[in-house]
Amino acid sequence: MTTPPRIAITAGFAIDHQPYGTVQRVRVTANYASAITAAGGIPIILPPQKHHLAALMEMVDGLLLTGGADINPARYGTESVHAATYDVDDLRDTFEFSLATYALEHRLPLLCICRGIQVLNVALGGTLYQDLPDQYAGALQHRQHLDGIPTDMPAHRLDVRPNSLLAEVYGGTEIDANSLHHQAIKDLAGDLVVDAWAPDGVIEAVSYDRHPFALAVQWHLELMYERHAAHLAPFKSLVTAAARAPLAPMS
Ligand code: MN
Repeated sequence: MTTPPRIAITAGFAIDHQPYGTVQRVRVTANYASAITAAGGIPIILPPQKHHLAALMEMVDGLLLTGGADINPARYGTESVHAATYDVDDLRDTFEFSLATYALEHRLPLLCICRGIQVLNVALGGTLYQDLPDQYAGALQHRQHLDGIPTDMPAHRLDVRPNSLLAEVYGGTEIDANSLHHQAIKDLAGDLVVDAWAPDGVIEAVSYDRHPFALAVQWHLELMYERHAAHLAPFKSLVTAAARAPLAPMS
């Protein structure tokens, strides 16, 4: 039996106050790992780190960039930090930007979720809205919990580009998404194409077509797939792509 594909899952740090003292934890929502398991892969959680990143990536067959706090706006040339921008972590930014770049250059299958789509866009030269409610006229409510909608339920429909990678992965253009973000892509990086928009025009999915599998979405499918099985499809596509023989790096 061949080994199932090994999928790297990025994580963040969190401070945890315990009765015995305060400790820093590596933290990531468990659903990312269970989704990779459900899709037939082996989840491997990675803490942010600085060294031996190529050696690290050589150990895995695919990469999942997860949700989390905001990217430092200095990464996309914005000097002023919006009051709503929170929990910037430069080590995690540096780590994930390096991994995203590695995955693109080495044709490593890549799925990016929420913060992940923002990392991919900024790593390739794009920019972000730091706060949709303040900076995007006519924005829908993209933080559904403020309207009392459970996280595993959809909050808005998507306008999906026909024949996009996203449409291929989901097997159609009828997709409803949950919405748990206050930032989004502003200027799209030149190498990316938009695969889906929210009804208000906010970019919700992009892909990179000079690559075996590079898909990025703004919604949290890892919180939806157990209740809405269609949302397991991107994890399955990632694992399937990761199971193929690795390709030579991009020249
Ligand atoms: Mn949304």
